[in-house]
Formats: sequence, C-alpha cells, structure tokens
Amino acid sequence: MQTLHGTVLQPRSATECMIRENAWVRIDDCGRIHEVAPVGSSTTDVVGDSFCWILPGFIDAHCHVPQWDRRGIDGLTLFDWHEKVVYPAEARFENADFAEQMAEAFVSGVIALGTTTVAAFGSPFPKSVDRVFSVFARRGLRAVFGMILNDANCPAALCQQTTAALDQSRELGAKWHGAENGRLSYAFSPRMPVCCSEPMMRGAAALAQMLGCHVQTHVAESPDEVLAVRETFPDRLDDVDVLADMGLLTGRTLLGHGVFLSRAQRKQVAESGAAVVHCPTANLFLESGLMDYVAHRSAGIRMALGSGVAGGPNPFMPQVAVDCLQMAKGMKVHAMPRRAYDVPTPAEAWWLLTRGAATALRMDDRIGSVEPGLEADLLVVRPEPWLAELPPDQRISALLYTLRPHQIEHVFIAGRRVGP
Ligand SMILES: [Zn+2]
Repeated sequence: MQTLHGTVLQPRSATECMIRENAWVRIDDCGRIHEVAPVGSSTTDVVGDSFCWILPGFIDAHCHVPQWDRRGIDGLTLFDWHEKVVYPAEARFENADFAEQMAEAFVSGVIALGTTTVAAFGSPFPKSVDRVFSVFARRGLRAVFGMILNDANCPAALCQQTTAALDQSRELGAKWHGAENGRLSYAFSPRMPVCCSEPMMRGAAALAQMLGCHVQTHVAESPDEVLAVRETFPDRLDDVDVLADMGLLTGRTLLGHGVFLSRAQRKQVAESGAAVVHCPTANLFLESGLMDYVAHRSAGIRMALGSGVAGGPNPFMPQVAVDCLQMAKGMKVHAMPRRAYDVPTPAEAWWLLTRGAATALRMDDRIGSVEPGLEADLLVVRPEPWLAELPPDQRISALLYTLRPHQIEHVFIAGRRVGP
C-alpha cells in the first residue's frame, strides 16, 4: 500500500470540480486507488504533505510521436507544415532504432509534464510502431496508439500499399490492443480522408470494429483541408460524410480538431458517439482557425483536449486547457454584439484534462478521477503556497493558470511511480 498526502482535486462533471483538503489517497498493490480518506496516524513512506495537491493525471488526446522533436517551428500553415515538417519527420522512422530513441524522449517529456495518457499517432512504418509500443510498455505510459495510414496524396517514401498496411495494422492491433493489463490500446489511424483510398478507410473501419479498437483521424482542421476533401470526394458532402460512409464514425472514434464543423456536422458527430479532440494551441499556431468549443459542447459532442504536438508547440496540457478557455473568451468578446454564451470555466478545463477526456476515450471505468476503484494515474504537485489563502473556486482557477511543470513532484500511472 502506498500513501499520498495533499489536497485532492476531484473533477466530477463539466460544471463541478470538488476539492478535498488535507487528505490521504491510498493506492493498493494492484495499482488501484483503495481509498480517499482524512489524514490518519503516521505511517512511513507518505508521499507529499499538506502543501501538495493530488490531481488525476492529464490526458493528451491528440499528438504525434514522430513530431516530438519538431515543436515550435512557426510560420507555416497546415499543408506547408505537412510538406516541410511532418513528412520529413515521419520518414526518419523507417529506422526503428531511431523510432525507439524518439519514443524514449517522448515518454520522458510527457511524463515530466504530468501527462499519464496519450492518444497518439505513429509513423507509417510497422517496425517502428512496434518499437514505440515496446517503449510505452516498459516505461509505464498509458497510450492509445497506432500506425498512421495513408495510401494517397502523400510522399512516396510514406505511401503505403493498401492491403499490406491493413495487414500490418491488424497484426499490431492483435499484439498490443489490451496489452499491459489494458494500459495499451491500438488505434486504427487513417491520417485524414484526403490521404486515404476508400478501400483503406473501409478496411481500417472493419478491422477496428473486429478488434474493438479505437479509430483516430483528422477532421475539418483548416480551410485548405476542407476544400481538399471537396475536391477529392466530389460526390460527398464533406469529410464527416466521408468518414460516416466508410464506417469510421463510431463511438470509439477520436476526431482531431473539428474546427470547421457545421451545425449539421456537429449533430451528426454527437449522434455517432464519436469524440472531438480540441487542439486550440495547434489551431492558433498553424493559423488554422478558431474552433467554437461552446457550440460543440452544446451539440452534445464528447470533448477532449489535445496538444496537437507538434502542430501545437506546447505539450503541457494545463496550458492547452488555458488556451481553450482563452480562445472561447476571444470568440465571445470579438463578436459584435458579444455572444451571450457561457465560456468554459476552470472547473470545465480540469474536467477536459482528466475525467471528461477519459469519458471521451471510453476509459472512464479505469481512469480520470481520484476515486476508489479506479487505476491510480495520479500527480503530486506543489503549487505556489499563496493558493492556500484562496476560497475553493478561486484555488481551482489559480491552480490551472499558475501550475508549472517544475511543480510536478511525482507521477504515478496504474500505481507505479514513473517520473518525473
Ligand atoms: Zn494531428
């Protein structure tokens, strides 16, 4: 049994975030949260103290492992970014040894920032994807991960043969989906509709359904992408229509971005049960657009947040959540007259970073909260001491805006201390 000590943050819903002061969180030997209780009589080996906070680990629901060392390259819009940065970065992963090194750097990097779960895209090379999975297994990261799929409109070095790529994805899924006591999941990962043939998309959908895997892809990310979909699929309404027709719009689908979803598309996505992963930092960085988070939420879509690394330069998820709030405020006050809607609150930001994202990923039976029975994906952080002077709602807000990576002292995944 391990014992953590601090103020416990418990996001309960998009509108309710509880604080439990000066508590013990006890973790059993199977890596689950055994109890959240008042501080008891002294035991040895207590991690943290009354100045610490215990948070659920952060969930980054959209990022790219091959782009980890390509963050912060400004001045490009989406398609130029693909040509000049993304494709060359992925081509390096033909070398599986290189892929393994990059995976080590990726895992060290995200864990130091308090991210305990990622939904991430890999390269188009199956050996490198296998090696990255091996690193995730050894280092203890929780991950939804898969080989990126593309057999059209992409450079020859990355362009896959359709049947072979589907066979390789199936083998990777059979090997890794549910591995490490369910900590690892496989995601069939078509890059985006314009880069995939119909047989590839239909094949990926069928295999994902057969194996019970996730699907992750990109949707309505930028105006150029929306136009490219129209040109590539003139008989379809839009990319949501393409994905739905191919069988890729499911309750286990993660749609990256979704900046330019129309009202009808939002309704279609909500009804399908698919999640939208909002990447505000990336959308601003690449000048892709401003996603109307409030409209997505109001449509009933399950939402998560993604760093979008490396389309987004910042992998520290609390800052991505701050960008979500700031973008919504910007859209509200810039409209003439001002929009009447409620911008998301810091409580909602914590929800999106933890429990809400776990719900979007269909993992809320395992992670996302500091509750008995869930797996112990937890952070012990030491914020600036003046936070203790504030009333609870102000503390919840100030913690979101002022938490910095160096204040993260311990990171646990499934009860195992993995960093920083
Ligand atoms: Zn992406």
